Amino acid sequence: MRDTRQAGLSRRRLLSSAAGVAALGSAFQRAQAAEPAQAKPAPRLNRNSAPSKLRITDMRSVLIASNYDYPIIRIDTNQGVYGLGEVRDAGREGTALVLKPHLIGRDPLSIEPILDSLRNFANHQRMGGGYSAVDMALHDIAGKVYGVPAWRLIGSKYRDRIRIYCDTDESQDPRVYAERFNKRKAAGFTFFKMDLGTRLVANRPGAVNDLGVATEKGLEYLCEYIQAVRDAIGWNVPLGADHFGRLTVNDSIRYARAFEKYNLAWAEDMIQVGHLGPGGDAPKDWRGYKELKEATTTPIATGESLFGLEEGFKDFIDNRALDIIHPDPLTSGAIRETKRIADYASMHGIQTAIHFAGSPVGCMACVHMAATLKDMLSMENHAVDIPWWGDLVTGPSKPIVNQGYITVPDTPGLGVELNEAAVKEHIRKGGYFEPTPQYDDYILDRFRRGGPYPHLDETGKLVVRD
Ligand SMILES: [Mg+2]
Repeated sequence: MRDTRQAGLSRRRLLSSAAGVAALGSAFQRAQAAEPAQAKPAPRLNRNSAPSKLRITDMRSVLIASNYDYPIIRIDTNQGVYGLGEVRDAGREGTALVLKPHLIGRDPLSIEPILDSLRNFANHQRMGGGYSAVDMALHDIAGKVYGVPAWRLIGSKYRDRIRIYCDTDESQDPRVYAERFNKRKAAGFTFFKMDLGTRLVANRPGAVNDLGVATEKGLEYLCEYIQAVRDAIGWNVPLGADHFGRLTVNDSIRYARAFEKYNLAWAEDMIQVGHLGPGGDAPKDWRGYKELKEATTTPIATGESLFGLEEGFKDFIDNRALDIIHPDPLTSGAIRETKRIADYASMHGIQTAIHFAGSPVGCMACVHMAATLKDMLSMENHAVDIPWWGDLVTGPSKPIVNQGYITVPDTPGLGVELNEAAVKEHIRKGGYFEPTPQYDDYILDRFRRGGPYPHLDETGKLVVRD
């Protein structure tokens, strides 16, 4: 594979020189009219990336085994430039690969027309992953071709680094749990989130009812964990909470009210009764969330399993049913759609926090997007305890999560390339971007042409049209 970064930079030089020529065009014409043309050889232009002739030629994948598997895709072009993308963690690479015949032969720089044509194949939970992976890869390609970072393709930077919060494993012992947060704080984190599963107190007498929901006594016990963590990290730093269990609207209100005195940054995904599909956590019940939000001062967040503004987030935002939206860009539509969602939320006074649990490829795509958001609180990282996570890629400065922040790249595209040797050490199954001929033909389609078409012509004669 040719060095696409070099190709991108060459293209940038080409574009800047082209812009200069355009600006001086009339002056050049006047000068040429007055003086004989100089016999100069034509400059050797690098046309490795000629945007008007760029076409998608292939899509392949590699599946990385991790805490949650990372399905990475690569979209290739006829000019050596390629783009990387990532399907949602614990998702299937097939959700992207079935889109391959819809992409082959198209200009990858037509980002919005392509995404528009793929939109009906995207859905909530892991089914948003294919669309999202394609979005990332297209922005990677476009950034490389034009020599600009992906964030520049969708807006301007509001910040040069993204504040990160990370998952921290629970402990039954509040003191042990608090100590784990002390370590996070010592590592430089300034934003925290705790899992507060009702199961933490399930063994204590009278703490949990037969539906697995905390009683008032159980809520007192759960608060002991928040108290311990607050005492460890301080009361003046943001602390979110998640994974409460299978709560109804009324249970969620009881929990959220019990937590009010701890000034949580947010309570996440509280309503788990009435989700979409078996085992899912994609709420469509904005009315339930509105009831919850209006019944408590604890800020309410959800959205990690929702795709799209119109499909997932708009009702929540229009009805002010949340304090904070919490999209996972690997489900919600990646760079362009999540920017759209967050801007719409911002317009309605609702802030955005970002859920994320994938590889450094998807992570950096989220970082580019998050840099452009006006009202961005924090972004999750689920891999700060995985020692080889950052080794999977080259490009970003290491460690990628440094003192609780990730620096926004200014290099072309996503600014991240796979470290082939490191990736090959962690392949779950299959090869490293093996050919995918099984996806050459349409598997999913919006409209399948039939024919031949027997019908009557103007004279009433039966004819057959192919
Ligand atoms: Mg969650």
